[in-house]
Amino acid sequence: MDCLFCKIAAGEIPSNKLYEDDTLLAFYDIDPQAPLHFLVIPKRHIGSAAKLTEEDAPLLGHIYAVIANLCRELGVDESGYRVVTNVGTDGGQSVRHLHFHVLAKRGLAWPPG
Ligand code: AMP
Ligand code: ZN
Repeated sequence: MDCLFCKIAAGEIPSNKLYEDDTLLAFYDIDPQAPLHFLVIPKRHIGSAAKLTEEDAPLLGHIYAVIANLCRELGVDESGYRVVTNVGTDGGQSVRHLHFHVLAKRGLAWPPG
């Protein structure tokens, strides 16, 4: 399948990695929208959050635990951060492989644009 994030997960396209294990990869966004902006992706191809099932509960728990650990290590657990996953056209999803944006180190507006 011709999927950018599958290629990044497989190491076929380089990324600025923050964390990696058997099931997921965290890397810095190439076009940061905040002073700290990284992405967390499952290595397995999942098109978006719209494709998740009950069986993905352990994976999602692991993703959020890794995000919490990384944000603690990066020193933004007290100041705060935002975790976002965009779904489909109206959600603003440009890469059709599930990913969680983690944005920090500036005040983030609500509601989003
Ligand atoms: P979304 O628009 O929610 O699908 O987010 C896709 C994100 O992937 C955007 O924030 C892009 O800047 C980011 N992105 C695209 N290509 C790369 C890449 N090669 N390395 C890192 N981030 C990327
Ligand atoms: Zn993929």
